[in-house]
Amino acid sequence: MNDHLILALSKGRIFEDTLPLLAAAGITVLENPETSRKLILPTSDPAVRVLIVRATDVPTYVQHGAADFGVAGKDVLLEHGGEGLYQPIDLNIARCRMSVATKAGFDYENAVRQGARLRVATKFVHTARQHFASKGVHVDLIKLYGSMELAPLVGLSDAIVDLVSTGSTLRANNLVEVEQIMEISSRLVVNQAALKLKRARLQPILDAFERASAQGK
Ligand code: ATP
Ligand code: MG
Repeated sequence: MNDHLILALSKGRIFEDTLPLLAAAGITVLENPETSRKLILPTSDPAVRVLIVRATDVPTYVQHGAADFGVAGKDVLLEHGGEGLYQPIDLNIARCRMSVATKAGFDYENAVRQGARLRVATKFVHTARQHFASKGVHVDLIKLYGSMELAPLVGLSDAIVDLVSTGSTLRANNLVEVEQIMEISSRLVVNQAALKLKRARLQPILDAFERASAQGK
């Protein structure tokens, strides 16, 4: 049992972008999470299985050792805090940026200059708090779990902190990106005990992931 490995992934872009990395390690996932109802997927390697969990839950499964390793966005890791996790590799996948956006026409620079109290809606409360504190901007944070773009449109907030890639969702909702906070990509996270106890099986996979992700840079 000690040489079995469990990898936690979320459906969607992280799963899709991790498949080529698994392929580089000689591993094929045998079921498609978009069509299968299974949450534990077999792979071509009988000793490796994939858990399908919510993106925000990946660090939790790995931290507690329910998964040996996983793939999670920097955004998710910053909110989680990263306790109990070893983060050896930036996989350079699911790239986007964390930004501040407001309704078109809202004078963000002026509001910040005036020292006004900004109402900011976001899923990324920890990162947003840090960002505005470092600028000395007073904010009231409003925690949301999705569809942040709606908040400024209906007067719930002045601004949002959200992930942006092409900007088309912002544009479709008459919002503008007024400040970029940081670049985001997904990281490999490994349970610290598993790294020691299962090193022999894990290391070749970590090496293959590292080589394959460096090629994409
Ligand atoms: P859900 O969509 O199920 O509510 P989620 O938004 O947390 O969950 P995904 O949309 O699959 O899950 O995002 C997973 C990760 O991919 C995020 O944590 C982030 O690092 C990255 N990501 C999010 N949006 C984008 C984007 N537009 N382009 C590239 N990467 C993104
Ligand atoms: Mg999403």
